[in-house]
Amino acid sequence: MGTFRPPLGSRRLAPAIRPRLCARPGCDEVAAATMTYDYASRSTWIDQLDVDASPAGYDLCEAHAERLGVPSGWTRTDRRQPPSPFSRVAV
Ligand SMILES: [Zn+2]
Repeated sequence: MGTFRPPLGSRRLAPAIRPRLCARPGCDEVAAATMTYDYASRSTWIDQLDVDASPAGYDLCEAHAERLGVPSGWTRTDRRQPPSPFSRVAV
């Protein structure tokens, strides 16, 4: 009978890739977009989910990014690319 040896590679600490969740309270959907804003210019931007979680950005799920409202006087710019640029290939 041999002694038990934990297999190599079993030391899996917190993985770097972890799904980020929507920042809206009560929403636990996976984030699909990152919202950033600038008070000075009263602008909000919606981008593809930022790979590096930036402290200035809010992660939002698809539905919340879509329905994001901004205060009056603010602009809301959706800078996301279409999900599939090849879905409308001209024949
Ligand atoms: Zn959400």
